[in-house]
Amino acid sequence: MTDPTDRLSLYRRFRPQRFGEIVGQDLLVATLRRAVAGGKLTHAYLLSGQRGVGKTSVARILARAVNCLALEDGEPCNRCESCHRILAGQSLDVVEIDGASNRGVDQIRRLREEVAYVPAGSRRKVYIIDEVHMLTGEAFNALLKTLEEPPPHILFVFATTEPHKVPATVISRCQAFEFQPIGESAIARVLHTIAQAEGIALAPTAADLIARRSRGALRDALVVLDQLGHTGEVTEEAVVELLGLPPLSMLDGFLDALVGRNADEALSMVADLSARGRDLALFLEEAASRARDRIITGEPPLIPIAQRLIELRGEMGRAFSRRLHVEMAIVALCGPPQNRKPPASSVQSEVDVLPLATPHGAARGTNKQRIEKAAPASEERQTQEGAAWPAMLAAVFAERVSVAAFLYPAEATWADGLLTIRLPADCGYHFESLRDPAVHGYVETVAHRFFDPLLTVHLSWAGETQKLTLEEGARILAEALEGTILREGDNGNR
Ligand SMILES: [Zn+2]
Repeated sequence: MTDPTDRLSLYRRFRPQRFGEIVGQDLLVATLRRAVAGGKLTHAYLLSGQRGVGKTSVARILARAVNCLALEDGEPCNRCESCHRILAGQSLDVVEIDGASNRGVDQIRRLREEVAYVPAGSRRKVYIIDEVHMLTGEAFNALLKTLEEPPPHILFVFATTEPHKVPATVISRCQAFEFQPIGESAIARVLHTIAQAEGIALAPTAADLIARRSRGALRDALVVLDQLGHTGEVTEEAVVELLGLPPLSMLDGFLDALVGRNADEALSMVADLSARGRDLALFLEEAASRARDRIITGEPPLIPIAQRLIELRGEMGRAFSRRLHVEMAIVALCGPPQNRKPPASSVQSEVDVLPLATPHGAARGTNKQRIEKAAPASEERQTQEGAAWPAMLAAVFAERVSVAAFLYPAEATWADGLLTIRLPADCGYHFESLRDPAVHGYVETVAHRFFDPLLTVHLSWAGETQKLTLEEGARILAEALEGTILREGDNGNR
């Protein structure tokens, strides 16, 4: 372990110093190295690619290589006077400009004045402009004038994460190199090498996980290793914790639920993740990735599931409600939930014993007789109620899938002619959708078939307890009172 007082980040300490040390960009690096060795460099390079893949490292190596006094097969020696000066940041001939913080035209104007002078002590004056796409239009115009007639001693190295934002007039004057995201196995190898050098016990599963989550950016992977490595040990659990990833057991549980077509289980996991504010997109990615691992070790039933999870992840960006979108996909994969609580042994057989719909002609409130007749003993009713809700959901699923999706996260209770459907706090959209009079009416019609032909459906949402309007409060009260009056067997013609 390093002394924390003068501790540089791992990324800086292990920054590649030679082309041969650049990870995952073999072709591009070989081309540049050959150009350096053969003295066939152009005057401007554009290095593009996502962050953390080595663009700036390559730019700096190139700056040293073109000025190295003891070039070794296209590699800078990193020992000669010129290399030393540049490495120490003391060379006047290597200028780094951060496009993001130097958007003004002034820097480029100064650059234009400077380029006329020959290098102070080197062969070539190198300008490295990072995030070059951030320069203003005016700055680009100024730059372009230099690019059009570049003095022979000048070398420009532009780096950008967004090459499409660089004017075509600039790109056309550069030799462009596109950096690739670095492969997971290459990142894992680097992690192991550095961990070994630093005396960090890095678990192979932890390295794989870091490599996977860094999405091709070696720098991100090293930042994670840096944050966890100070204890001298990096476990998979620690990575899971730091990155806020779902644990393996949860991912396996989710996949098992999908394979077993257990919508209840999968939906309750999604509800749990939402309630804890976890990122569903990240969860889908991890689940898909876990599915891939299991497919490789011989679980072909997971293939279509993995494919759907990957599609679903791609759809997250344009989903108006991520949770709803995932829930719909689960239901489509598994079929409707069968066992909402309380669990019923066999929905189908119990559906048969449910009261059948009666003609709807009777006005509400004149039905005291029917309730007295139909209402079973409380325990019996409990059983019926438990089976009626999943049966109702199954019916809604068969008829109107979109409405079923709004109902799945809900809890339902039935008492005194009132079916209360409660939505959890993170289901505001579900609630709003169900409140639509047409949807509400439809739900009530279905509920009449499965519970009581005269019941009223009341929707509630945990997120709205404080926002209950006076009107709604009155309505709920009226409904409750109606139930009470009915039960007391008062005059039905209120
Ligand atoms: Zn050198």
